[in-house]
Amino acid sequence: MPHLLSKSKYIRGLQCDRALWLDVFNPRLARYTAEQMRRFDHGREFEYAFKETFPNGIDISAELHRNVDAYPARTAELLEKEDNVDLFEAGFLYDDVLVLADVVHKNPDGSLDIYEVKSGSTLSETYKRDAALQHYVIAHCREVNKFCVVYNGMSDLSDKSDYFKVVDLTEELAAQHDEIARNIAAMKDILQHGEPATPTGQHCLEPYACPYQHYCAQGIRQMSLF
Ligand code: SF4
Repeated sequence: MPHLLSKSKYIRGLQCDRALWLDVFNPRLARYTAEQMRRFDHGREFEYAFKETFPNGIDISAELHRNVDAYPARTAELLEKEDNVDLFEAGFLYDDVLVLADVVHKNPDGSLDIYEVKSGSTLSETYKRDAALQHYVIAHCREVNKFCVVYNGMSDLSDKSDYFKVVDLTEELAAQHDEIARNIAAMKDILQHGEPATPTGQHCLEPYACPYQHYCAQGIRQMSLF
C-alpha cells in the first residue's frame, strides 16, 4: 500500500506545515547546500560503520532499492521466516506512515530490538522526536522489546571504545504515542488542502535549515504536480 507520510516528512511537518506540503506535492523545489549534503554523507558513513557490527544483517534496501512501498511486506516475510535475524532498512507501515529502521534484531521470542543510528555527538530532542515516530509505527506492527538510539559518543578522539553510544529510550518513546497520533492526524488534514500560506520566520532555520527557503523568499507559487 502506498504511504502518505515518512519519517522525514513527519519531521518536516513538525517544523512547518508549508514545508510538509511542499515535501509531499512539490519536493523538486528543495535545495540543499553543499554543507547539508556533506552532513548526509557523514551520517551514512557512521550508520554503515554501526551496521558492520551485525555481520549477518540482511539489507532490504539492497534488494528493493527505491521501491520503498514494498519494504514492509518483505520485512514481514523475513521476520516470519527467520529466527534471530538482523535486518537493515526494515520497513513498517501504520497509520499511512512508512518508516525504515536502520537495524532490527529479531529475538527468539519474536520481539524486536530496534537501533536508530544518528551521527551527531549528543542525543538531541530532534533525534528523540524522530525515534518517537518510529516507535509509534513499529510498535503497532510488531512487539518491540527495546528501541535504542545510537549516536557518536567519541568525545575523546584517541579512545574509540565509546564510538557507538547506545541509549535505550523504549519507555520514554512509548509514552508519546497519543501525541504522535494527534500530530499525524493534523498533518493528514494539512495535506487535504492547498499550499499553506505560512510566512517565513525563525522556524525556517530550526531545528534544520529548510530547503524551501529560496522558494518562500521569492513568494513563488508554482503549480502542484497534482
Ligand atoms: S522556508 Fe520557512 S515558511 Fe517556507 S516552507 Fe520552509 S520553513 Fe516553511
